Amino acid sequence: MAWTPNRRRIRVYRIPAVARGARLVAGAARECWPQGSGLGDTAIAHELNILVGFSCLGDRCEDTCCFMVRNVVSRSDYERLEAVMSRDPEERRRFVDGFEVLPEPQRTDSAYARLVFGPSSYCTFLADGLCSLHRRYGSQVLSEACATYPRRNVRGGGEAEISATMACPEIARLGLFGVEAPRMVHSGPRAESPIAQVRASLVAVIRCPERLGVRLLVLLRVGAAAPATPCASAAEARAVRRVAQREMSPGSLRRARQEMAGVAVSDEAVCAAFCEVLLGRLTLPHGAQLRDTVTRVLRLREGRTAAVADLATACRDARALWDGPGWERLQQGLTNHALMWLYYHAHLLAPTLYEHATRLVTDAALVRFIARLLGAGAGMTVGDAERHIIRAAQVVARYFAEVPAYRETAAATLARHGLAGSAGFRALAMW
Ligand code: SF4
Repeated sequence: MAWTPNRRRIRVYRIPAVARGARLVAGAARECWPQGSGLGDTAIAHELNILVGFSCLGDRCEDTCCFMVRNVVSRSDYERLEAVMSRDPEERRRFVDGFEVLPEPQRTDSAYARLVFGPSSYCTFLADGLCSLHRRYGSQVLSEACATYPRRNVRGGGEAEISATMACPEIARLGLFGVEAPRMVHSGPRAESPIAQVRASLVAVIRCPERLGVRLLVLLRVGAAAPATPCASAAEARAVRRVAQREMSPGSLRRARQEMAGVAVSDEAVCAAFCEVLLGRLTLPHGAQLRDTVTRVLRLREGRTAAVADLATACRDARALWDGPGWERLQQGLTNHALMWLYYHAHLLAPTLYEHATRLVTDAALVRFIARLLGAGAGMTVGDAERHIIRAAQVVARYFAEVPAYRETAAATLARHGLAGSAGFRALAMW
């Protein structure tokens, strides 16, 4: 069977949900999401607008998702694949080698088995850049995790929301420099869960017409003043909105601008810290895209990086260029990065809103660090810089933001370099 992009679910989904802005009727979602996902039972859905134009790049993808991600499959996925692949002895052997049933205490119907990854950390069913199961049997046999990637389905309170991760290069492209800025398209009346209300307050901060550094500072302030459990109830979500509105008043924004103007930030300290963060990540499983990016960014040769002073100078030069007239489009791309981040992490990842804000500030600074150094040197155009920002956002999402254990290591590294705490996060926001 010839491989075709897995568009079946997207096409059915987007007709009622997005293209006509019509209400998504109960049952329509059931057709477009795998059985057993639970989404089909939900009458109202919200979807990230950029998913309308999304189509998997297949073997043209520069950093395929068949790499150590979402490797858990449900019982129904497992049994469907087992039935299909047991018709042929050779395929049965591939099935047995390719899946491992989880041990009893961890095994549930929704997390029943896991894909076994090869020594290269890539899925054993990946062949010539394409999924051999998809190629041979069609997209119908794919597990929910594989069939729906890079989308994320979040359910709660009778609502379903479909977001997408920038770890997918095509999503990063569409999200950062697509035709429209990222936003949620609502296919019916919104129940306005506390989580959605909190996120709307954060999105309003990121959309306000200030420099990105000032907006990130405001976000940190909102996080610091928010209730301990901001998404626990509608009352607490309203409290977050009041704080955000207060912090976005003309007087507060003026003070934030003045504060940011006085923030002392050492390019050398930031570069030294992020050098360590990138090199540390290379010691864990990673794909060619990360290795190539780190090699180019740090000018790695025989295990040695360029001098930190040289990296800092290159970052300063790139920042001066990006801030110049004619390069405004890049600022929109960086704003879109923050929006994509907020839309993807719909449920707060961190225990507090302040920590949630610091993670965004850290990820955004790392994206700027990588992108500026990828583009260092003479002759860079706006188009080049766009590509570097897309690549940086994709690498950060795949290899940092979605690896919780390494995020903690990276946070400890930044703290050692003075880039934590109130002053440290302000410096990163400004940088
Ligand atoms: S990362 Fe995105 S474009 Fe690449 S193979 Fe996966 S879904 Fe397709």
